[in-house]
Amino acid sequence: MKTVEMAGRTVPVLGQGTWNIGDSNSSRASEIATLRRGIECGLTLVDTAEMYGSGRSESLVGEAIGGQRDRAYLVTKVLPSNASLDGTVRACEASLKRLRTEAIDLYLLHWRGRYPLHETVRAFERLLNEGKIRAWGVSNFDVDDMEELFATPGGTECAANQVLYNPEHRGIEYDLLPWCRQNGVTVMAYSPVGQGGRLLSSAALRCVAGRHGVSTAQVALAWCLRQPLVAIPKASAVRHVVENAAAAGLKLDAEDLAAIDKAYPPPQRKHSLDML
Ligand code: NAP
Repeated sequence: MKTVEMAGRTVPVLGQGTWNIGDSNSSRASEIATLRRGIECGLTLVDTAEMYGSGRSESLVGEAIGGQRDRAYLVTKVLPSNASLDGTVRACEASLKRLRTEAIDLYLLHWRGRYPLHETVRAFERLLNEGKIRAWGVSNFDVDDMEELFATPGGTECAANQVLYNPEHRGIEYDLLPWCRQNGVTVMAYSPVGQGGRLLSSAALRCVAGRHGVSTAQVALAWCLRQPLVAIPKASAVRHVVENAAAAGLKLDAEDLAAIDKAYPPPQRKHSLDML
């Protein structure tokens, strides 16, 4: 598995998303088995959030990584409505319990809300000092949000910005991606296979997949990974995680990229950040 450096740690360029996982008892065992298989395949970065299933996703992740906590790199997120100084600390402690761990590897502010950034950053600093988190970052922050964050005391310690990125949503290539690269902030691409919907039936992606004898999802992931970032596809089927892990080794050539550009043109001007 290819890797990148994030806040002094080496992490795989592909991880596992967990939105909508843990919601049903009937699929619980297979979702746990899928996450474990993903870890075996090198998808050791696992992304969750207190919001997902009101904590059910975190609880399932905690169960799945039981006995192999050291192999996993855990990312979770505080809701903006909890992101006050004390609220962030309380939310983190609740996440730690559900995740059955003593420390979260990367703790993100899920999106901007009513609490001032300096308050949330102070909470992150307190959690770092107490050893409850190992790094912090943000999600759904556009360039102006990042600039404001970097002007906040302690804000330059932000390790990552998790944003929507796939061929249908590539506005970040114009400004946010270069900004993050220049400022040492790792970009994490969410919904890299377009939530499994329209993108998987895209004629352009299917054509490229056919040329390489791979799946459309693998093309979508390899397309994301041509940029220096971490992509976090969610899969609940074992065959999907195995396939996704193999996408890290797929290299798209100039003809492939031109075909994808034709169907999904790169941005020529600033677009405000898309989010789900
Ligand atoms: P996604 O990963 O783009 O798509 C997930 C869908 O794609 C699922 O239906 C999955 O099917 C399917 N899929 C995955 N691999 C596949 C493969 N190899 N072949 C065919 N289908 C495949 O969408 P997402 O869940 O929205 O985004 C990924 C993760 O990013 C989330 O789970 C979450 O952790 C994070 N996220 C963060 C934010 C944020 O605001 N920070 C927002 C959205 C998402 P199966 O489940 O059937 O395998």
